[in-house]
Amino acid sequence: MAEKYSLQHWIQKAQDEHTSLYVIGLQHQIQAMEITAEDLLSKMLTALKVMEESIQTGLIGNRSKGGLVGGDALRIQNYFHSQPERSVAGPVLNRAITFALAVGEANACMGRIVAAPTAGASGVLPGVLFALAEAKGFSREELVPPLIVAGMIGMVIADRASLSGASGGCQAECGSAAAMAAGAIVSLLHGSPEQVGDAAAIAMKNMLGLVCDPVAGLVEVPCVKRNAGAAAQAIVAAEMALAGVKSVIPVDEVIDAMGAVGKCMHSSLKETAQGGLAASPTGLAWTAQLGQST
Ligand code: SF4
Repeated sequence: MAEKYSLQHWIQKAQDEHTSLYVIGLQHQIQAMEITAEDLLSKMLTALKVMEESIQTGLIGNRSKGGLVGGDALRIQNYFHSQPERSVAGPVLNRAITFALAVGEANACMGRIVAAPTAGASGVLPGVLFALAEAKGFSREELVPPLIVAGMIGMVIADRASLSGASGGCQAECGSAAAMAAGAIVSLLHGSPEQVGDAAAIAMKNMLGLVCDPVAGLVEVPCVKRNAGAAAQAIVAAEMALAGVKSVIPVDEVIDAMGAVGKCMHSSLKETAQGGLAASPTGLAWTAQLGQST
């Protein structure tokens, strides 16, 4: 059996070669995909363009198909612009929440998004990346290396555990997105490879056990707001890692634990809309109203 991907292995390789995780990831991906570095970078720039456009789509404020979500990203943006002194989050976190919600709402309205790692969790990475770009003046080109690092983290999670709510619960979707985004933030702010691993581990640990319980089986409630929560977890984890806080449990072991927790999770909590919030009285009322059976 082929050896599983290991983030710790790539971190060690980057340290041994006195380089960044981005460089290790770039080398790995151009070999695996059999494309040139230029082609890979161009694909990443295209993905970032689509991410940025999906933020704008969400900020129009349309209601979703199911009617459960829509307009909250715009609501937060208007609040922050009109009353910045009342914001408890501050500019980076407020904008990350706004953008994460916007992409989640765009997805719920069938808008074009980048499923990184999945459509349900597609708001987290654009949320943190474009909030930091806005706050610190990073260009779209400067967001490419952190996106590649996020991709490395996602590959390891997919190989060792799962990225799917149906097989691992929301910890595998929004939890993985938080881990990817946390690592991406550290990469963007030139943290060390080890700090990328610590950030990913801390973010994943803080999302461990999260169930998948979409009301009426739609990727609307609680999905959209969970993207904002996961973006916040990513920022918290990255801040800790950049300050030198370590994860006691190594990142690969955290990912393995997430996979094991997912296997233990009851099927009612894995995208079947049979448990959790989907089975709450209000969740069931919405299901009945939307004419779907649980
Ligand atoms: S609750 Fe389920 S469907 Fe919704 S984002 Fe999480 S994993 Fe995806």
